[in-house]
Amino acid sequence: MEKPAIEGGKPVREQKIYYGHQYIDEADIQAVVDVLRSDYLTCGPKIGELEKKLCDLTGAKYAVVCSNGTAGLHIACLVAGVGEGDEVITTPVTFAASANCALYCGARPVFADINPETYNIDPASVAERVTGKTKAVVAVDYTGQSVELEPLLRLCHEKGIVLIEDGAHVIGTKYKGKKNGSIADMTMFSFHPVKTVTAGEGGAVLTNSEEYYQKLLLYRAHGITRDERLLEHASEGAWYYEQLVLGYNYRMTDMQAALLISQLDKLDRFGRRRKEIVARYNEAFSGMPGIVVQKEIPESDTIRHLYILRIKPEEFTIDRRHFFEALGAENVCCNVHYIPTYYFPYYEKLGYRRGICPNAEKLYEEIITLPLYYAMSDEDVESVIEAVGKIAAYYHR
Ligand SMILES: *Cc1c(COP(=O)(O)O)cnc(C)c1O
Repeated sequence: MEKPAIEGGKPVREQKIYYGHQYIDEADIQAVVDVLRSDYLTCGPKIGELEKKLCDLTGAKYAVVCSNGTAGLHIACLVAGVGEGDEVITTPVTFAASANCALYCGARPVFADINPETYNIDPASVAERVTGKTKAVVAVDYTGQSVELEPLLRLCHEKGIVLIEDGAHVIGTKYKGKKNGSIADMTMFSFHPVKTVTAGEGGAVLTNSEEYYQKLLLYRAHGITRDERLLEHASEGAWYYEQLVLGYNYRMTDMQAALLISQLDKLDRFGRRRKEIVARYNEAFSGMPGIVVQKEIPESDTIRHLYILRIKPEEFTIDRRHFFEALGAENVCCNVHYIPTYYFPYYEKLGYRRGICPNAEKLYEEIITLPLYYAMSDEDVESVIEAVGKIAAYYHR
């Protein structure tokens, strides 16, 4: 049997590969340069153009772009009416922002457990956590596979709760034939460089509700409006505006918007390549002893943002940490998504304790995020598979 590099063998590849990387071409660079030579660096024409493009792409009626996805979650919670003393239900298998947005509003995040096979939030667990104080559910499309929107929407609307989709991973995915972004009450996208398309930093909130749309615009820009229909006092002239609520400066610049418009032109290509790589990984790993492949639900036509390798630690002589380090020694540099949010010291100090979501906690012990990005070559993909196969075989009991 071949010796893993961590035991002194030869690594499967010479050059390190990382778990994610943006893809920037000349068209992207030119788009940003053109804005720099134009009259508007922010609040210019690229913002409206991008918002229209996101609507056309998803079928959502309205899109509001903002400085990052976290800002998007914050204003979505404000628009949902989340405030002091309220509760917001979310998953612990996510980036901290999905729960922090509730804390920003003075509300308490309540963690629901995941489905042990899809790893997405379990609608039945959400139902158990609903109380009279629940204002919103923040449902994360983990790895890019859609959450079960139909049961979640039914539950939320029966109880008068707003469904906010944390779609940081989901752009391009369809749920039951409709693009994610056009289905939940509000959907957030993130355009951080590790995501499927990037603006450097950037986010958006999509909605079909005119009322939510108007409020999102207010909260994005200081709570200030010039819209005559919204003014509470009579206009005093062309310069006149009013602040109606306490908003923020969460605007996106035109440089970022131009970059993202150019990136979105490549989304189909990006999506096709990601699907190819995922299909190859699934094929290779589904027969491998000790390895579990994430379950795909037929309702979701998925553009995967992350690829999760799950190991059954009881079948190996090593644990996840050693498996991760062994992959690193093969020059396959991985990551882990995610540490359950309530494990963080900040959350411990707020009174959260381990044990609330057993499925999520078990998942965390067993997962490794493998490289997945558009620019990976077939050789890159095969070397990742080879590294996993070598380590799995060597340490299998
Ligand atoms: C990236 C990410 C966010 C935050 O988005 P930013 O644009 O980095 O603020 C929120 N939720 C999830 C699940 C993410 O992956």
